Amino acid sequence: MQGGGRLPGMVTQRRRSSSASSAVTPRRSGQIEIDPAKDLISEVGRKFAKRALCVFAHPDDLEFTSGGTVARLCAEGWRVDIIVTTSGNKGTKDPSVTGQMLAGEREEEARNAAAILGASEPVFLGFHDGGTANDDELRALIVRHIRRSRPELVITWDGFRPGFNHRDHRVAGQATYDAIYPSSDDHLYYPLDKEEGLEPHRPAAMLLAGGGMAGPGAADYHVDISGHFRTKIRAILAHTSQMGGRTEADMVRMYEERRAQAPEGDDPSLPPLRESFTKVIFRR
Ligand SMILES: [Zn+2]
Repeated sequence: MQGGGRLPGMVTQRRRSSSASSAVTPRRSGQIEIDPAKDLISEVGRKFAKRALCVFAHPDDLEFTSGGTVARLCAEGWRVDIIVTTSGNKGTKDPSVTGQMLAGEREEEARNAAAILGASEPVFLGFHDGGTANDDELRALIVRHIRRSRPELVITWDGFRPGFNHRDHRVAGQATYDAIYPSSDDHLYYPLDKEEGLEPHRPAAMLLAGGGMAGPGAADYHVDISGHFRTKIRAILAHTSQMGGRTEADMVRMYEERRAQAPEGDDPSLPPLRESFTKVIFRR
């Protein structure tokens, strides 16, 4: 599993001191353990706080990879904030459409989708589609948001998976990973945040989306979204500029066909009724 192996020091690192605890979250003495034998989302929500942050690259990334999971979180009382690093201002074959027009349209679609899922209004960082880099500017913005919204669960692209991947997906995943460790919980990174009262913070866990696309066994955490499947479809369809006039019935049929192609005897909770991630647990 990539999560623990990428940063060997991560899972054994101890919280430096109680000074890093949040002004929002009550101060804790000692270390709170996440039981790996139990469901990660339930564990985080029960032992920490029901606050999640999703960091994706394009306005519809979240809905396709994690829409059912976010719908489930919202239905279970979580606050889910969303960062989108670009506004999806490329990707049209219509020569009369400018990047600015497309960005405005896609931001509006993402706001509608977030409302369907029950999440907060997305924050757009405004980088150009295809032009993001895992640099200090992007990491500073993500760290700032983490310190402000103090998520305990972060959902982002798996920026480390092998094989074909969009540059912006890779960058969003890696920058988010780097923003959480080592930056967001260390006051010496981006010290100006403190002047605004933003204290260091480290989330309890992270889910990396898209890992399952790298092949069987690449993902180690699966969310049953059967109770939220229609909500996911409606959120995907909110991205009307990308959906080519498809209807909810078209989408259900498409997913059912895909499901029917699954090998017999395979896990009954196969996609599309399941979303798969690689999990990363941070100790603090
Ligand atoms: Zn994308």
